[in-house]
Amino acid sequence: MPARTEAETFDYIVVGAGSAGCVLANRLTASGRHRVLLIEAGGHDRYFWVHVPLGYGKLFNDARVNWLYSSEPEPELDDRRIIQPRGKLLGGSSSINGLLYVRGQHADYDRWRQLGNAGWSFEDVLPYFRRAEDQERGEDALHGVGGPLAVSDVCEPHPLCEAFIAAAQQAGFPRNDDFNGKSQEGAGYFQYTARNGLRRSTARGYLRQARGRPNLEVATNALATRIVMDGRRASGIEYRRGGETHAATATREVILAGGAFNSPQLMQLSGLGPADLLRQHGIAVVADLPGVGADLQDHLQVRFQYRCTEPITMNDVVHNWRHRTLAGLRYFATRKGMLAIGAGYAGAFLRTSPHLATPDVQLHFLIFSADTAGAALHTFPGFIVSVCQLRPESRGFVRIKSADPAEPPAIQPRYLTSQFDRDTLLAGMRLLQRVMRQPAMTRYVAEEYKPARSVTSDEDLMAFARATSTTVFHPTSTCRMGSDPTAVTDERLRVRGIGGLRVVDASIMPALVSGNTNAATVMIAEKGSDMILEDANAVAASQELATA
Ligand SMILES: Cc1cc2nc3c(=O)[nH]c(=O)nc-3n(C[C@H](O)[C@H](O)[C@H](O)COP(=O)(O)OP(=O)(O)OC[C@H]3O[C@@H](n4cnc5c(N)ncnc54)[C@H](O)[C@@H]3O)c2cc1C
Repeated sequence: MPARTEAETFDYIVVGAGSAGCVLANRLTASGRHRVLLIEAGGHDRYFWVHVPLGYGKLFNDARVNWLYSSEPEPELDDRRIIQPRGKLLGGSSSINGLLYVRGQHADYDRWRQLGNAGWSFEDVLPYFRRAEDQERGEDALHGVGGPLAVSDVCEPHPLCEAFIAAAQQAGFPRNDDFNGKSQEGAGYFQYTARNGLRRSTARGYLRQARGRPNLEVATNALATRIVMDGRRASGIEYRRGGETHAATATREVILAGGAFNSPQLMQLSGLGPADLLRQHGIAVVADLPGVGADLQDHLQVRFQYRCTEPITMNDVVHNWRHRTLAGLRYFATRKGMLAIGAGYAGAFLRTSPHLATPDVQLHFLIFSADTAGAALHTFPGFIVSVCQLRPESRGFVRIKSADPAEPPAIQPRYLTSQFDRDTLLAGMRLLQRVMRQPAMTRYVAEEYKPARSVTSDEDLMAFARATSTTVFHPTSTCRMGSDPTAVTDERLRVRGIGGLRVVDASIMPALVSGNTNAATVMIAEKGSDMILEDANAVAASQELATA
């Protein structure tokens, strides 16, 4: 039994220093009025490859910074287990992600509002995106400057990306130089959460600024093991650090920001979740909340690999010591070149049918090729285009497998279990092929490598998808915000029926957004922090009235 230490008292305890947690730590301590404890299971972020954009590929398998989860066997993906990397360090997944800055579509947030979440339409959330941002291109109605999250253009155009964008135009789609502008549709370059060729995680953008404040305490290498409950009110957190069990008390609120896998896990471990599941593991039920861990959603991508006619890909740099050295020297001198590239260089948001109002698939264009994410690059010149469906209907779950907090939970997105998702993915693969077979692109295609050009029937294409597809790393919605009986949080992110407890991270999304999920998570934390502070002010005002 690990030793116990005396409980310390804070106003707020935030569990998880990831994309959302670092935002909360900064905003909640800014006034100096509130004492905050930020608890992070991982450690520091001072690793070379965390800061160099290209390094994300090296972090997929690095246990020092990654929880290294994987899914349960996926029934529609040939029973394969799909890797589920998650950041386990300051900055969380924003420290290991692919850096792409994509907010999603305006309609995503309007839909959140339509689902009954007052205050979450695009018009409502836009000020929070703007407040977070330091947009390199300057300020306008849709973009902000001066915020902690640096957003920058890719360092320079690349001939393969230009060919891809031209091919999309030849296929009938517009060029789009701003996926976060008025319309998402079209092909263009991504923007990154980076500045001067270096990653800008939320640890770098938000936490660093707040770290010196006397009212913020950051506990790293500290695993939160239980929410301490006082009846149906959260009153603190128990956590393990250095072989000891610590307890901390929150006089105002406990805020979960552990991400879409760990926030529901911690709730279930604490007696907040589906009663049957909790009993199965000998956990006393505090509240039967069937929605905790339900509704897991994720983007699934199929990666098409191509042999290139010219040695202009990253494969050619990596496998040639002279080019590699030059790329390294260039990066250190100018912060440009191959090392400054994130998980996608160019991309496209397309409609698989002209009858649709907005894009339903996203393409990521990468100037390298490898058999799987994080694997060694091919020795031949190659590139990849992947396709993912933006708004999947398939729903999965996160469920504890044991009462031991150190045991990973069962994660099962249940990819492609909806017929609609299978149909959309197939239409997306056909669309990808249509773009890639345009004249602008074919001059660079020596061979359609995987799948081969001989893979032509719908059945064979779907078989390829089942055998090779993987996550885009966007799990959400396991503590879904809403007003229906299985929603976990209300529109102010308070856990329904439980006092003193909020969830503020990617797990509250009512539905997955049509893009990459970091920007939306940062926005959620910006908005969540305002709600927390507004509620604190309201309590203070009513106390003043009572004593007047
Ligand atoms: C490999 C990868 C690539 C990605 N690429 C992109 C991209 O290019 N663009 C994009 O927009 N999105 C991308 N994403 C997704 C995006 O980064 C996430 O959606 C976002 O970071 C989620 O933020 P979060 O705050 O919900 O969780 P996280 O950022 O994962 O933070 C959760 C934090 O809580 C900590 N924690 C968990 N449990 C406990 C506990 N019990 N005790 C203490 N601490 C705990 C974790 O260690 C972690 O630091 C990617 C993700 C990954 C993993």
